[in-house]
Amino acid sequence: MQDIEQLADQMAEMIINSARTVVFTGAGISTESGIPDFRSPGGVWERFDPEDFTYEKFLGDTAARSKQWRLLRQLGRTAEPNPAHHAIAAMHRLGKLDCVITQNIDNLHQKAGLPDDLVLELHGSARWAVCLDCRRRYPFDRVVAGLDSDDEAPACPDCGGILKPDVVFFGEPLPQEVLCKAVSRSQGCELFIVIGSTLVVYPAAYMPIHALEAGARLAIVNLSQTPLDGEAEVVIRARAGEAMSQVIQRVEDRLV
Ligand code: ZN
Repeated sequence: MQDIEQLADQMAEMIINSARTVVFTGAGISTESGIPDFRSPGGVWERFDPEDFTYEKFLGDTAARSKQWRLLRQLGRTAEPNPAHHAIAAMHRLGKLDCVITQNIDNLHQKAGLPDDLVLELHGSARWAVCLDCRRRYPFDRVVAGLDSDDEAPACPDCGGILKPDVVFFGEPLPQEVLCKAVSRSQGCELFIVIGSTLVVYPAAYMPIHALEAGARLAIVNLSQTPLDGEAEVVIRARAGEAMSQVIQRVEDRLV
């Protein structure tokens, strides 16, 4: 049985003593905001077929394209940040956060108060849609508001090209500029904190490895085991909100 209070003490100590801390987040941080984890039982991939969510299908097939738009419209329509997102935003206010690297597309870090330039979104963002022809970007909500039916896939208002949610589909490369930044921030940090990721989706899951290889300390908050638990100084096996609110309270008690 783990002693969460003692582990939270340890992790708070690590944050206080680190001059540069990178936080890495996955789906597990947003489940408490009502956004289902894609891979877990009851998750998105039990209701939708992942085979329908390849980049190839998006380009090739209008039916698959409208299905992809429908899924993204259903996800996190009213989701709000939870105590874990707020704890990370508090780290920033205390001067204890270098940046967040996230696998999530839900915009909840920004909603909790983090500036856009501190959130490196490896898998894109569901806030935007991009035209595959002219590359113009449009706010996702505005695009969706203009649709007549649930089965429609929108076109670019400007050139009529295919509009794609600005998220990374299966078979699509990660945005290179964001990926490069994430690698260099991982290599440059003193402390790397994983929250709500099982670290099995690459290349995102290489980030803590880059950090470790560059000599950083590692802490992990996740409900289930990860392949890097053995490398971490602290592993808290708990829900992200529960663990991080305890951690940030201790950091604030010491710093404020
Ligand atoms: Zn266009």
